[in-house]
Amino acid sequence: MDFDAQDEVTALARRLVRTPSENPPGRESAVAEVLAGQARAWGLEVTTQEIDDNRVNVVTRLPGTGSAPSLVYCGHLDTVPVGARRDWAEDPFGGVVRDGYLWGRGAVDMKGGLAAMLTSLAVLRFAGTELPGDLVLCAVVGEEADCAGSRHLDGTDVLDDAGWLVVGEPTDLDLVVAHKGAVRVELVAHGMSAHGATPELGVNAIEAVARLVSAVRVLPADVRPHPLLGSPSSSVNLIEGGTAVNVVPDLCRAVVDVRTIPGVDADVVLASVKEGADRVMAAMPEVEILVRVLHERAPVSTSVDHPLVRASQEAAVRTLGGRRPTRGVPYFSDASVLSPPRNLPTVLFGPGEEALMHKANERVSTTDLHRATRFLSVLPTVLHGPDTGLPGGSAVGA
Ligand SMILES: [Zn+2]
Repeated sequence: MDFDAQDEVTALARRLVRTPSENPPGRESAVAEVLAGQARAWGLEVTTQEIDDNRVNVVTRLPGTGSAPSLVYCGHLDTVPVGARRDWAEDPFGGVVRDGYLWGRGAVDMKGGLAAMLTSLAVLRFAGTELPGDLVLCAVVGEEADCAGSRHLDGTDVLDDAGWLVVGEPTDLDLVVAHKGAVRVELVAHGMSAHGATPELGVNAIEAVARLVSAVRVLPADVRPHPLLGSPSSSVNLIEGGTAVNVVPDLCRAVVDVRTIPGVDADVVLASVKEGADRVMAAMPEVEILVRVLHERAPVSTSVDHPLVRASQEAAVRTLGGRRPTRGVPYFSDASVLSPPRNLPTVLFGPGEEALMHKANERVSTTDLHRATRFLSVLPTVLHGPDTGLPGGSAVGA
């Protein structure tokens, strides 16, 4: 079959952009069907996982000929909402290609990456390439909200024989080998209401939360920065309290968004916040502050010396004109759900500039779509090959 990867990856990315999957609300079934339909048309094995009404994961497989671990590519089907249309120079769902760029919501994050991943499976299939293990593409729902798709995938047997994970988030074709995790901590302060004219008769719950969030240290002082991720961060991103301007509030709630590094997990964060809450309660004895973790996403880190990273560099030399920078990023991905339970070595790699994520005029270079496709179609052979120091061509470990 005459397969022009450059034309095919651009055409597929355009069709994915033209099929909205904004989250919220997160109805990815239409875009899932576009991806699954293309995979079937290319003769690839496709299975789907119903998560909910209108929500479907798509798992596409290029079967290997042996029993080596599978290489898993993963990307998300949803996008953030478009926002104000007047800020866009092109229709965000038009799939317009202009000046060498595909414009639209999701072009960068991450329908371009998904298109490159699926097209790379087709390249290998039409080339008749035999791999000793499966190459699997998992396209999941819900990454922009609650990782519903990867959490569902995590509970199935799809990843049972996985040896390595590549997540197609936009990295501008760099090799992202580490990303931060997240711990969302809820603080609820209970005080006592009173007439606004006699605040000394009440206990102000907003004041208690204000004291806590201004004093809160989410980290013990001795946390060493990660070489690629630096230090954890924290930001109070939600706060609500009070019922009227002339009533002392008896209730206040805040949520702190803590971005973590390896070694700093929910228990560490929680202990530190509770210590702060204890100090506030000692100073305001009639206040009660309840602290709990709403959810946690794990940080991910793979050594730059790991065979997956070495194979990725070799694939970059062969397809991108040289080695690529290895670096860390502060946001989390589906790897937070999928990698830690299996100790999966993980790299993030995809087309598109991170600076354009979640913004108006999101656009991806069509040249980079093709370059990403080439990289992704060469990586499996290099990874399973003899040149990366992999015992038997299939080492696993982190
Ligand atoms: Zn993304």
